[in-house]
Amino acid sequence: MNKTFISDSRGYYGQYGGAFIPEMLRENVESLRQVYYNIIGSEEFITEFKMLLGDYAGRPSPLFHARRLSEKYGAKIYLKREDLNHTGSHKINNTIGQILLAKKMGKTRIIAETGAGQHGVATATVCALMGLECVVYMGELDMARQEPNVKRMEMLGATVVPATCGNKTLKDATNEALRDWICNPEDTFYIIGSVVGPHPYPDLVSKFQSVISEELLTQLSAKEGTEDPDYIIACVGGGSNAAGIFYKYIDRKNVKLIGVEAAGKGVDTGETAATISVGEPGIIHGSKTLLMQNDDGQITEPYSISAGLDYPGVGPLHAWLADTGRCTYLNVTDKEALIAAYELTRLEGIIPALESAHAIAVLGKLELKPADIVVINISGRGDKDMQTYINAKGSLI
Ligand SMILES: *Cc1c(COP(=O)(O)O)cnc(C)c1O
Repeated sequence: MNKTFISDSRGYYGQYGGAFIPEMLRENVESLRQVYYNIIGSEEFITEFKMLLGDYAGRPSPLFHARRLSEKYGAKIYLKREDLNHTGSHKINNTIGQILLAKKMGKTRIIAETGAGQHGVATATVCALMGLECVVYMGELDMARQEPNVKRMEMLGATVVPATCGNKTLKDATNEALRDWICNPEDTFYIIGSVVGPHPYPDLVSKFQSVISEELLTQLSAKEGTEDPDYIIACVGGGSNAAGIFYKYIDRKNVKLIGVEAAGKGVDTGETAATISVGEPGIIHGSKTLLMQNDDGQITEPYSISAGLDYPGVGPLHAWLADTGRCTYLNVTDKEALIAAYELTRLEGIIPALESAHAIAVLGKLELKPADIVVINISGRGDKDMQTYINAKGSLI
């Protein structure tokens, strides 16, 4: 981890990013920014971070050549297996990094927001590991939809607090967590789960997730004799797994970067979470970015079958990468994602998270050549989505 940053020192990616926060949060955010900039390059921090990624999370995650999938799409397709990490997704990379920051700052109480529950579980996990108090805010509707993850968090010792306002989903849980932080600035550290929120969060989360592309450079080099694939594909909710696998490749213009958003029932149906397709610049949860809003600037409710992609904003890094044309953002409907999940399962014996299935589903939308090397980030495993897969089966095959 070197000390280069993609955003400027105030957290701007072009016109996006920054820290748009109430006065009462300014001190929290500023002290986090200072500690982050001081320790991110320090030998001691990097050593402990890397040790936990290896011995606790199980990194490096394998890079797997998916032969039968490759045959079907006529290109050489590799899967980066973030689904094999401890707790089942890439989220653990970030929570390990942030819990180390929290300890450094002498904080004793951790709060987090969660949608599908994956970030909540990853946070409750590192809190148990470090013996810190943990409170997770979760929309009341999501608590009902993702009951097993609620039970996991509780078994890990966390208190799960229902967010009962608005749609009772991720956006509302995030509002509750920010409110808590304002009320408890002294002892509390807020672990944000994606590349969203006020600076320095988008920067530090992408930095912690960049281990994915750091590994990819050496893994691909060993297998193919080149560090550079032709395509890298990742799903985008807030955008942290995509930021992680894009990070080291942003300056390598010969590598095509493709982010995949959830179209839900279709981008034009009003039931979608494809923020980059339908969003306009605005401010959400402390940062300027693209977000889904009506003509009055009110945030509109997102929809996707996948709880992890069901967010009305997107990280400012991605808004900027979309504006500059460095990355291409496509979108995939609920149905296309379900079909792709079954396809990967039957071709490779890997049941992906519904979020990751969105990334797989764009394979059919690209014009691939036999010599193309394609890397898809499998952000998580599908255990949590089994009920959705079972319910959908009848209408698919
Ligand atoms: C949370 C989650 C996502 C979406 O979050 P990003 O920040 O966009 O990566 C994607 N896949 C899985 C498995 C998740 O748990």
